Amino acid sequence: ESRAIPSFDVVVIGGGQAGLACGYFLRRYALRFVILDGEQAGGGAWQHMWASLRTFSPARWSSLPGWRMPEQGSQWPHRDEVIDYLRHYEQRYQLPVKRPVTVHDVTAGPQRLHLATDHGEIRARAVINATGSWHHPYIPAYPGQQEFRGRQWHTVDYDRPEPFRGRRVLVVGGGNSGAQLMAELATVAEVSWVTFEPPRFLPESVDGRVLFERASALWRARQSGEAAVETEYGLGDIVQTPAVHAALKQGRLGSVRPFRALTESGVIWPDGTEEAIDDVIWCTGFRPALNHLAGLGVQDDAGRVAVEGNRSSVEPRLWLVGHGNWTGFASATLMGVMRSARQASEGSVRLLGAKRWRHR
Ligand code: FAD
Repeated sequence: ESRAIPSFDVVVIGGGQAGLACGYFLRRYALRFVILDGEQAGGGAWQHMWASLRTFSPARWSSLPGWRMPEQGSQWPHRDEVIDYLRHYEQRYQLPVKRPVTVHDVTAGPQRLHLATDHGEIRARAVINATGSWHHPYIPAYPGQQEFRGRQWHTVDYDRPEPFRGRRVLVVGGGNSGAQLMAELATVAEVSWVTFEPPRFLPESVDGRVLFERASALWRARQSGEAAVETEYGLGDIVQTPAVHAALKQGRLGSVRPFRALTESGVIWPDGTEEAIDDVIWCTGFRPALNHLAGLGVQDDAGRVAVEGNRSSVEPRLWLVGHGNWTGFASATLMGVMRSARQASEGSVRLLGAKRWRHR
């Protein structure tokens, strides 16, 4: 293989929380690794989320392995505190992150995996993919969507309520994002909330921490084959952040079932009535950002990667971290990514036969 092409033992693709958590474990071993991240600065997707966003768990329940997020007064850390934490985390553990570097394509060579990036080719003996989902927003298909002349946004486009002041807005999607945008927009715009079913709000006392604990207990019980009492709360149920709680109490979080179709100027509701709408905000979620793995042939028809644990069943030099429960229970959260990151890092260490540093 050419000497001019940089080669690493492990390349982690993605330098958000999932990639950093992998770095935390990899740095304990005598191997050459690098984290490639497409952003201009540290903080992953958090730096693109809306301005008022707060986490749904307290700081100590929003932490990565090794170092707890510092408490800064508020029970619910602000987006900027998370970004700050991730940037400091990177420095604290001197993680070798290169940015901005975007990986366009990964293919399998006989000895190495070949990564085509916007900064040239890189080779790796093992790859851990931690690219999140922010760059792959999902919008469901609705009749008339092409004809609608108003503005269409996705959660990824939303920053603050001002551009919607005085406008007629539809927020579509019954998850946490939809609820939080509703709570914020209801005071400035004429807004309707469209959800498949009436949204499920968690009791005020149940935040992300409680959810995580209950779901973890259930997961552990299932793993060990014990009978477990199913929790009455779902991980997708809406957390009553202070803003959501206030809006709920003021009766501003009513919802309606989906419209039949979009028209040029609005929507047709199930009973046939038409309503003029200026903006539709799709809070309809994400799919894993995995296009760059297409060349490996590891994805099935639905675009999912078949895994054993979180290692690809087709390409044994590839692991995936942080994409949700299929890559490890709750791995798409700050608190939950640790187990999945450790599994991937230690898996690649075993594959390469790397030794642990004594001093780390
Ligand atoms: P990301 O943060 O998306 O990081 C992936 C990184 O990979 C990015 O920097 C991206 O630029 C880079 N990348 C992508 N593709 C490539 C490529 N081809 N080449 C190079 N780099 C690439 N979790 C919680 O624990 N608590 C919360 O309160 C919480 N709130 C959330 C609120 C919202 C609105 C959303 C959407 C999610 C929330 N989450 C929360 C879930 C989760 O913690 C975040 O989505 C988090 O950003 C996931 O981290 P990640 O590292 O997996 O992905």
